[in-house]
Amino acid sequence: MGADNVIIEKNFINGAWEEGSGETIAVINPVTEKPIGQVGEASAADVDRAVAAANAAFPAWSALTGAERAGYMRKLSAAIRAHMDDLVALQKLNCGKPPAEAEADITGSLECIDYFADQAEALDARRQQTIDYDIPGMTSVTRLEPMGPAGFILPWNFPMKICAWKLGPALAAGCTVVIKPSEIAPFTDTFWGMAAQEAGLPPGVLNVVNGRGAVTGAALAEHPDLRKIAFTGSTRTGKAVMKAATNGVKNIGLELGGKSPILVFEDADLDLAARLAAEGVFYNAGQCCNATCRLLVQENIKDKLTEKLLEEFEKVVLGAPDAPGVTMGPLASKAQYDKVTGYLDIAREEGLNCLTGGRPAAQFNSGYFVEPALYTDVPKDSRLWNEEIFGPVLCLRTFADEAEAIREANDTEYGLAATIVTEDDDRVARVAAQLDAGHIYTNTSVAIPPQTSWGGFKQSGIGRELGPWGLAGFLEVKTVTLRA
Ligand code: NAD
Repeated sequence: MGADNVIIEKNFINGAWEEGSGETIAVINPVTEKPIGQVGEASAADVDRAVAAANAAFPAWSALTGAERAGYMRKLSAAIRAHMDDLVALQKLNCGKPPAEAEADITGSLECIDYFADQAEALDARRQQTIDYDIPGMTSVTRLEPMGPAGFILPWNFPMKICAWKLGPALAAGCTVVIKPSEIAPFTDTFWGMAAQEAGLPPGVLNVVNGRGAVTGAALAEHPDLRKIAFTGSTRTGKAVMKAATNGVKNIGLELGGKSPILVFEDADLDLAARLAAEGVFYNAGQCCNATCRLLVQENIKDKLTEKLLEEFEKVVLGAPDAPGVTMGPLASKAQYDKVTGYLDIAREEGLNCLTGGRPAAQFNSGYFVEPALYTDVPKDSRLWNEEIFGPVLCLRTFADEAEAIREANDTEYGLAATIVTEDDDRVARVAAQLDAGHIYTNTSVAIPPQTSWGGFKQSGIGRELGPWGLAGFLEVKTVTLRA
């Protein structure tokens, strides 16, 4: 593997690299629109063998102490560190990310594995705890046990980091895993197999199966011998995965779509508000589940904020990852480009008020580039206001007062994140308490430290990743009640 012209990825099953027995899938560079490599698709039979390997490795891996597993995990992050330059190059090539964004996906995954290595060590002391109650003749202890072999189904927008959010807690808990990368961005996630080899992980603890969702993903989701499916992707696919996971009554974690509001109140620092709204929808070309794509502004500051927003839009430099001064890359795939430009067409049909952008970028000979768009006074029933676009598109509506701001922010089936911009701490407390979202940001950008929680209300998902909640997602609680 490496950032060469043609990259051929295999599947990593039971500690060995194998050709997939399914179709060959081309992987495309979103700047040139040309293939940069291919993966051999894992068929249902290949997935079967990967799951069998994860099951065979489970008893010995789960019997290690947390500290012993942490030792392996630190070697895993050392392997990633040692290949940092290659991984960053692959991210740029496969996802079109500018250098800082490409690097953030890799460093974010390292930080996450290191954090959960600490949690694995800490787990040894709290694996068994006495329950505090007072019933004569009875006493109980709880034991935390690993759930069992787990399958991961992953998206393409932050491939390594989102895998680490699952891999860290799974390995710390004592679970073995089968990873299915996105077929659009498979290279960096396939690297986890190489990292496992370099870290000396026992065969079968970490397996990677490449392929399309309908083939490899579906085989994993419905496999009866997995105890957990951890999925990140769209709400539509999440529903299909949830149905499939009823086979075997698997535990399920779903990290799904978002349509996250940013609420700017009249007392806000408007430079900060404009920067946060723009940054939150420009990062990764808007292909972020927590993109600040629904801007709600108090009506008396709308004009001033709009002026400042337009200044932020003017600063954007679109281009290939290594072109000078680039701040925004292309969309990651043809499918995503078609989806986003489709919404720009809908905006024209709906007669939306477009202040800037709203069309494909004309200055490139190839690549999935789209000018960032700002729409104002977007009607409440607009499809752009209600549906996840996953591109650099910012829609603005106004509100009269705090109650209306909260009502409008919550008026969506999603509930992943929300941002509040105000200088009033009492307002922060009031509004944060009433917003239906898994992570509320106030006067800050939408970063996700591994110590915090991540996950959504409503149709943004089920369960929480990261922090102690992420670890709990891979643990079963067993109570042992004894005669005292
Ligand atoms: P997607 O739903 O198209 O695909 C996600 C994964 O599911 C891919 O690996 C795909 O191959 C697989 N898949 C597709 N059909 C399947 C099936 N029938 N059975 C099993 N697996 C199947 O999503 P995407 O386009 O890769 O990612 C973008 C979406 O992910 C957005 O909606 C975004 O909001 C969401 N996302 C959410 C979070 C979060 O933390 N909540 C983070 C990142 C992305």
